[in-house]
Amino acid sequence: MLDRLKSGLQKTKRQFVDTFSSISFGRSIDEELFEDIEMILLKADVGVKATEEILDFLRKESKKRKLKEGEQLKELLKEKLLEILKGCESRLNLGEEKPAVILFLGINGSGKTTTVGKLAAQLKEEGKSVVLAAADTFRAAAIDQLEVWAERSGARIVKHTQGADPAAVVYDAVNSAKSRGDDVVLVDTAGRLHTKEHLIKELQKIIRTIKKLMPNQPVETLLVLDGTIGQNSINQAKIFKEAANVTGIVITKLDGTAKGGAIIPVCRELKIPVKFIGVGETVEDLQPFDAKAFVDALFS
Ligand code: GDP
Repeated sequence: MLDRLKSGLQKTKRQFVDTFSSISFGRSIDEELFEDIEMILLKADVGVKATEEILDFLRKESKKRKLKEGEQLKELLKEKLLEILKGCESRLNLGEEKPAVILFLGINGSGKTTTVGKLAAQLKEEGKSVVLAAADTFRAAAIDQLEVWAERSGARIVKHTQGADPAAVVYDAVNSAKSRGDDVVLVDTAGRLHTKEHLIKELQKIIRTIKKLMPNQPVETLLVLDGTIGQNSINQAKIFKEAANVTGIVITKLDGTAKGGAIIPVCRELKIPVKFIGVGETVEDLQPFDAKAFVDALFS
């Protein structure tokens, strides 16, 4: 799994590692080295605030520990990144109640349907019965795409025709899963941001519908963000936070970006943990976010 993560993170990794090697840690610690590190962190979209915090820590701690060598500073940087990212780590919670309803939010193209499909396949692999609710009724392609994932994974799909009321799809999916005793319902929603008000209204109607049938659900509301847009995803996320109680973030497409560092400002500014990362198009490329594995992949 670490290998897949490593190869998936090639681009993010290159951004960190190549630049690190270009500035060469094989020398004594001096002001220029701190500045070089600062540049790399900013380029990787770690953000101004977190970069300042990391640099402050490196300066103070290297003095305190009386470090002299650049390599020691690199280890200290790894230590700090790990500490920060540990605070962003959280596992998927399916709760006690059946079915566990997981709602997926995110703008079109963020990787929502793909994430739902990958997670369905993984949960089926664990022996769970999974229902997919095709509540992105705006795009016919989204329904078709979900159907392909349903066939591939063996999950049951509940769908209506294009243009149908998404809340009606969710009602049917949750209701049938409840009566059949299914384990999990994964709800794929539409992510049109043409007007914020419309999006919020639609999502809130879906949530009300779920709660009518099961007051304690959804147990998770996961926001899917496109990793290639780096810190820009923060503004998007704020809109979704207004609409729903987002319990976790999925950051996709980290295989195609040098902006993997954005995980830090995203999770910290939004105060929402990262549950999964996407590092490619296959089922195994959706991985629980593991801070240690992430840092190891960046520095290995
Ligand atoms: P949606 O509109 O949010 O449902 O987005 P889709 O699930 O249709 O994904 C949009 C595109 O991103 C598709 O071509 C996916 O195959 C691709 N995609 C999703 N996740 C990943 C990922 O982790 N890595 C890469 N490289 N592509 C991804």
